[in-house]
Parts: sequence; C-alpha cells; structure tokens
Amino acid sequence: MSRIQWRLKEFPKKLVNCIRFRYHYSLQCIRSLTYNHHMSQSYASDVCLEPIFWFVDNFTHLLGPFFVFAVVCLTAAVVIICYWIGLPYWWKKSPNTTYFLLVVGNWLLVNVAWNFYKAAATSPGYPPEKELIIEAVSICKKCIAPKPPRTHHCSVCNRCVLKMDHHCPWLNNCVGYGNHRYFFLYMLYTTVGVLFIIVFGFELGYNVLIVGDGEGWNEVEPLHGHPVRFNLSGHIIPVTEMNDYVDDGLAPAEHDLPVPQEYSSNAAKHRAIIFMALINVATLFALGALTSWHSSLITRGETSIEAHINKSETKRLSALGKSYQNPYDFGPRRNWRLFLGLVRKRTWWRHILLPSGHKPEGNGLTWLTVNDFIAIDDRDDEWP
Ligand SMILES: [Zn+2]
Ligand SMILES: [Zn+2]
Repeated sequence: MSRIQWRLKEFPKKLVNCIRFRYHYSLQCIRSLTYNHHMSQSYASDVCLEPIFWFVDNFTHLLGPFFVFAVVCLTAAVVIICYWIGLPYWWKKSPNTTYFLLVVGNWLLVNVAWNFYKAAATSPGYPPEKELIIEAVSICKKCIAPKPPRTHHCSVCNRCVLKMDHHCPWLNNCVGYGNHRYFFLYMLYTTVGVLFIIVFGFELGYNVLIVGDGEGWNEVEPLHGHPVRFNLSGHIIPVTEMNDYVDDGLAPAEHDLPVPQEYSSNAAKHRAIIFMALINVATLFALGALTSWHSSLITRGETSIEAHINKSETKRLSALGKSYQNPYDFGPRRNWRLFLGLVRKRTWWRHILLPSGHKPEGNGLTWLTVNDFIAIDDRDDEWP
C-alpha cells in the first residue's frame, strides 16, 4: 500500500477523533465557564421543595396545640368507653377478673398520662446561649452558634436542640436529651394499653359487631306507623300525644312500643364499639411500628437523626475499605440502662414500671464515647 492510499484510508478515523476531541473540549470549556455550585441536582431539588419545608415548619408549630388536644380527647374517649361498656360487661362475667383488669388498666393509664404530660412539658434541652461551650464540635449555620456533639437544629422550633431525635407534632415539642425517655415510654405504654383493650374487649366487640347478638345488643328495628290503643269496646284509637300513656297509669314499655332512650343507647354503644375497634387497631399498628423502630435505635445507641448519619458514614467508609463504629454504642444492655437512666441503684420496678421524674444522665453537652469508656472503672455505679 502506498503512503497516499494509507492516508486516505486513515482519514475518516482521524476526522472522527478530531471532531470528538473538539466536542469534549468545548463542552469542558462551557462547563468550566458556567460552573455554579447552585446548579447541583440536590440543590435544585432543595429549592423546589423549599415551599413544602416552609409550610411544614410553620404549620407544624401552629397546629401543635390542636394535635395535643386531639391526643387528649381521643385518649379520654377510649377510657370513657372502657368504663361505660367494658366495665359492666366484665363485671357481669366475673367480678374477680374485673378487679384485676381495673388495677392493670389504671396502672397503664397512669403511665400513659404521666409520660405524655412529661414528654410534652419537659424541655428537650438547648445549648447555653452567650456562653463559651468548650464541647462544641461545629457551628449551626442557622443559629450562627456553637453546636455540642449530638446537637441538631430544629427548623420547627427554630433553635438547636441537645441530642435531638425529631420534632413531634403530637407532643408539640422537640424530642431530645431532656424528654427522650418520656417520649419512648409514652409510646410503649400506649401500645401495651391498646393491646390490653383489644385483648380484653375482643369477645365483646366480636359478639356485637360480627355475631350481632351479644348481650342483647342487636339493634331493635324501629317500628314505623302510628301508635294506637284499644278503647273499652275494642275499637282502635290513634294516639296523638305521648302523654296519653301517662293517663292510663301504665309505663310506656307495657304498651309494647319501642322505648326511644333504650334504642338510642344501644345504637350509641354499637357506634362506640366500632370507634374503639378502629382507633385501637390503628394505634396498635402505628405506635407498635414506631416503638419497635425506636427500640432498635436505642439498642444501637443512636437517635433517629444519627441513624441516617451513621448509615451514610458506614457506606462511605466501607467504600474506602474501613469499618465505621458508632462512638455512642456501648452494647445493647448498657445503651438501654443509659437511656432509661438505670444507674445509681435505680430499679426497674420503681423507675420504669411506676411514673418517675428522674433526669437523664450528664448535661447533654458532654458525651462519653466508646473510647472514653475503656478507661472507666466497670464498678463505677455512675455508669451502668
Ligand atoms: Zn441551630
Ligand atoms: Zn422542634
């Protein structure tokens, strides 16, 4: 092959390469000249979602008191229905079981009410203002203030919260260092409480809703037509006034007419049982799932926010061939004892099974890590 022939053969290939190079070069030129940090995809999605964040932040705060009021009303309604329908049902069945149910039910109720009140009324804890925080590990971009470890900024409360877990609209409060235990125990006792109602109300609900003949509660079909009575010669006389009953000295029931109060009471009970079935089953699923999720977080020694951070850190380090260690994970048993504050001879039966106002360990600013822990004497009672 002559030199000219070879050149002609190679020409199209060279041309394509040249065009490709020019294209990529111009693309890089345009990109470098127009590069802007705000053009990233995550930034763009943040900008688009900004109105939704704004709405949630502002309205969660405004709607907070209504959510709290709704929780109180629903809990009160459930308890009232238990006393109104469940108590007579069980009393008729077995007075001894009723005493037992009253003790257990009220023990659960006291714990639910106490933990809800404390979770809503206790401050989650905030970093001190206008003070030197030696523990600070970063700066909050929104507060322009130092941030101790485990502290995060709550956009609903618009301030930094110590060991923040999440903002809870049902409590109208942030869940953090100061009230995390109350929040968890509230969920736990409420889940156990609704399970208690479902287990001991199941037979009653089944008879009324499914079988339809429980305790004579099937709805009486209201009689249609006009009330009548017979006169002495056997003629039918229409009754125009309900007062007509009073004149003949007989009680309304003896006329075999439906008694309005009785009927409406049965219908109300029927509706109340449907309400109980719906609310208790929904609460069991929702709070049951939430309680087990938070239990797994506590077992691993992390908050909801830290769970996300730890997950992405584990991913990032494993890509580099390294393993990640959560600095606040002291093993399941110690994590639980620390979370529940079971130190300094505190006991399960007194500080968990009964309402207790003991404060969480430490000050929420300084946090011991697994590295410090190695140096701590195991016999130290301040440490679980
Ligand atoms: Zn902040
Ligand atoms: Zn908050």
